[in-house]
Formats: sequence, structure tokens, C-alpha cells
Amino acid sequence: MAKENAVDVVLVGGGIMCATLAAMVHELDPELTLQVFERLEGVALESAEAMNNAGTGHAAYCELNYTPQKPDGTVEITKALGINSAFEVSMQFWSYLVEKGLLPEPRQFLNPIPHMSFVWGKANADFLRARHAKLSAHPMFEDMTITEDPEAIGEWAPLLMQGRDAGQPLALTRVNRGTDIDFGKLARMLFAELEGRAGYSLHLNHEVRGLDREADGRWRVRVRDLVGGGTREVLAKFVFLGGGGGSLPLLLKSGIEEGKGYGGFPVSGEWLVCHNPEVIEQHQAKVYGKASLGAPPMSVPHLDTRMIDGRKALLFGPYAGFTTKYLKRGSYFDLPGSLRFSNLKPMLAAGLHNLDLTRYLIGQVLQSHEQRVEALREFMPTARPQDWTLDMAGQRVQIIKRDPQLGGKLEFGTEVVASADGSLAALLGASPGASTAVSTMIDMLQRCFKPQAQSEAWQAVFTRMVPSHGKDLTKDHELLRTVRDRNNAVLGLG
Ligand SMILES: Cc1cc2nc3c(=O)[nH]c(=O)nc-3n(C[C@H](O)[C@H](O)[C@H](O)COP(=O)(O)OP(=O)(O)OC[C@H]3O[C@@H](n4cnc5c(N)ncnc54)[C@H](O)[C@@H]3O)c2cc1C
Repeated sequence: MAKENAVDVVLVGGGIMCATLAAMVHELDPELTLQVFERLEGVALESAEAMNNAGTGHAAYCELNYTPQKPDGTVEITKALGINSAFEVSMQFWSYLVEKGLLPEPRQFLNPIPHMSFVWGKANADFLRARHAKLSAHPMFEDMTITEDPEAIGEWAPLLMQGRDAGQPLALTRVNRGTDIDFGKLARMLFAELEGRAGYSLHLNHEVRGLDREADGRWRVRVRDLVGGGTREVLAKFVFLGGGGGSLPLLLKSGIEEGKGYGGFPVSGEWLVCHNPEVIEQHQAKVYGKASLGAPPMSVPHLDTRMIDGRKALLFGPYAGFTTKYLKRGSYFDLPGSLRFSNLKPMLAAGLHNLDLTRYLIGQVLQSHEQRVEALREFMPTARPQDWTLDMAGQRVQIIKRDPQLGGKLEFGTEVVASADGSLAALLGASPGASTAVSTMIDMLQRCFKPQAQSEAWQAVFTRMVPSHGKDLTKDHELLRTVRDRNNAVLGLG
């Protein structure tokens, strides 16, 4: 027999997106009642968990795929500027929470780690030089430095140069204000802070199985208790599907027009994890390289210092893989189960137009340990197979959507799909991901809670949480400096 209750907001998923949204909603209007449902036994155990993602505070300092090279050789930096300002927005929100005592000492989830881009070969070095010239001319990236001197590279990142043939052209850029973030810890701390607040509850081991719209516009959400058994029903004025890879199936079940035609292509990830303390100690950077031919943008290899629970770690990857699961702890039926009449054509067309990606993924899956270490040696020539073991990363579900020309296309970004009346929204895709959670959630609130979001009361809270709210950090350089000074001071950067 189903139990039923009524709330203002239902959040599906206990990851970083729902944690951010829950914290924000509570600041905007503590009167709103809010229930969070998470299918696993704890929060932040899927993509948000530290070892399931790379922990890079994506600010476009080191990720070369955010600055594509145009056919005429010039470098396009628009996307990099957008990502940098979105990350500055996230840091403003975290600074606000730290100052208000709602987040503890920032070192528990955020650590400054230099962000570097490293390339070899003449064409790549030319590209990095052009990228540096264009980016460092903008105040957002004015601190970026470049060197082509093997000795300097060896000082900044010794593992890159030990045993390397210094005869070939090399180039490396560095921004010291980069970050490593434990998004799992951050999500857990955000949820923990809400515990005990009136009108808020978090239900672990509860899986949302479906949802239907009522005649009065509310959503009847069906939730299965995976431990106690039984199903409960919750009536909600607003539902956010923040289930990571679990969002797409629920979006399709909701039947909203705006969700029709969407499909998902799962790409799993793996890391090589270093177990030799002497090697780990020699590296203090996140070093991103160029993606190999045919590789999807999220498979850009990087050699990463990580700080997890106060311990330093060294990871290399990600290596891509393929499974039909949409969540790391999902089901092999996730992909076939998401096929609908409305998305069959886009899914098939995207598959046909991305055969090189399929080939790349198969190649990645079939790699031996020695072959993986060989890829690592391009970054760290002295890498020894016995120092590294393979570990599973999280699962990403890339967006497939209709395309008038191709029938269907695969996208590598993030997209919020919302119903026209703003009563339901789903977050699809996974890049740039957790780093831009704050601006993604603010944008979503402005779309789905239009009258409240435009009210003086909410605008004042938005501006308190994110002082640059409504302004363009890429253009207002004075404001950029003010925002950065405060983020640096509160979060201990710079
Ligand atoms: C290999 C890899 C590397 C990455 N690197 C970075 C990086 O360096 N920097 C960065 O910013 N981002 C990175 N990302 C992306 C980032 O991890 C994700 O964007 C982010 O974690 C997504 O958060 P989320 O809350 O939407 O999803 P998740 O963290 O996956 O949380 C979703 C939650 O919903 C639950 N759930 C699903 N379905 C249901 C249901 N029906 N009912 C109840 N609960 C449900 C799941 O169990 C899960 O706990 C990376 C991702 C991967 C996979």
C-alpha cells in the first residue's frame, strides 16, 4: 500500500548537483519543503565520489579541448572564458558558505594545485604558444606562464622530464591558482549541514521509479524503499532529476515534450593509480595533454596530483571504456531500457556517425596493463608497471539528441532539459560537470522558478551567495579582481 505526502520540491539523487541545489534552495527560501531520494546507501557514491572523477576544478587553465584551434591556426577562447567564469561563480558560493559557517575549513574539500598543459612535437608546441598568447592577454588568464625550456619543465614537474629525450620540441604552461576538489566530500558536507532543518529530509536506499503529472500540475513521484520494501508516493510542485546517469530514464518516463528525442551514450572510465610513495611525492600538479586521434574530449589524458581525505595521491588517465550501464552501480539493461520510439532514430544516427569513437572505445577496452603504462610513459617516461594498478572511475552518459541534418548527434557537454511550465527539470551530460554545478543550478532555478527568481527577495539572496550574479566576469575586470581576491582569501588560493 503506497504512502503519500506532499512537498514543494523533490530532488532525485544524492550527488553534487542535488547537494548544491538543496543548499541553495534552503538559502533562497527556508520555508520550502524539500525531499531528496538517493538509491544507494550513502550520498555521493556515484560520479561525485573522489575516485570516480578527476577532481579538477575546471577553470580552462589546463584543458586544451576548451580552446580549439581553428582551421586558420588561431585559437578560440570563448569557451575557456565561459568555463573560467562559471568556476569563479562556484568558488563564490563556496566562499559564502564557508564565511557563513555552513561549510567547514576549505582544505577539507579544496586544495590549490598548479594546473599545467604539456605537449611535445612542433605542431603541438606551436599550438600551445598561440593558446598562451591569446589567453594570457585576457585578465582571467594573465597569470598563465609558458616555458619551452626542458630544464624549467623538469623543475616544475620532474616526472615529465626524467628519462625524456630532450631533443624534441616541448612546451608547458602553468597556472598556480589551479585546484583539486573532492566533490564527494563537498556533497556530503552540504547534505550534512541541512540535516535537522525544518522541511528537509534525505532518504537513502530509496529509488525513484517513475513519475506522472497530476491534473493540478504537480508531480506524483513513485519511490521504492530498497531496504524496507514498499513504495511511497510523493506529490511535488517541482522535481529535479539530478540522478547523474539515472536522469535520462526518468526524464523519458516523465513524458514531457521537451525530453522527447533524447538518448544517452555511456562512456566509462579507468585510472592508473600509483602506489609508490616516492613517485607520488615527486609530482605536485595536474598536467593535461592533448587527446589522441579519435578520442572523445573527456578522455584527454592527465597526470594528476589528488588530495583525498588529506592524503596525496597520483592518478593517470582516464582510459575510456564501454558498458551499457548508465550508472557505475547501475544495470546492464540501462541502455536498451532507454530506447523509445522517439529517440530510436537519434540513437542509431549518432551511433553511425561516431564509428571512430566506437573503434576508439573498443581499442581502449582491449588494452593490456603494459599498453596502458606505455600511454603513461608519454607523460612520465620512467613509469614502471609495478608501481601502478588499474581502478574504475565513474560513468558518464553523453547526450544524444535530434539533429535536423544528421538525424541524431552526440554531445559532450551538460544540458538542463526543463518542462515549459518549469515544474520539472533534468540534468543530462557530465562536462564540465561538478565544477560548474553552482552556475548550472542557478540557471536552472531562473528557468523553473521564474517569478520567485525575479523577485527582489531572491535576487538579493543570489547576490549574497554569488556577488557577481547577473554580471559578466569576462568583461567586468574590476569585479573579476574583487571576486578573485575574496575567493583567494576565503579558500586559501593564489
Ligand atoms: C571519469 C570522470 C571524470 C570526471 N572528472 C571531473 C573533473 O575533473 N571535474 C569536474 O568538475 N567534473 C568531473 N566529472 C564530472 C562530475 O563527476 C559529474 O558532472 C558530477 O559528479 C555529476 O554530479 P551529479 O550529482 O549530477 O551526479 P552523481 O554524482 O552521479 O549523482 C547522482 C546520484 O543519483 C543517484 N540516482 C540515480 N538514479 C536514481 C534514482 N532513480 N533514484 C534515486 N537516486 C538515483 C545515484 O545513485 C547518484 O548518487 C567527471 C566524471 C567522470 C565520470
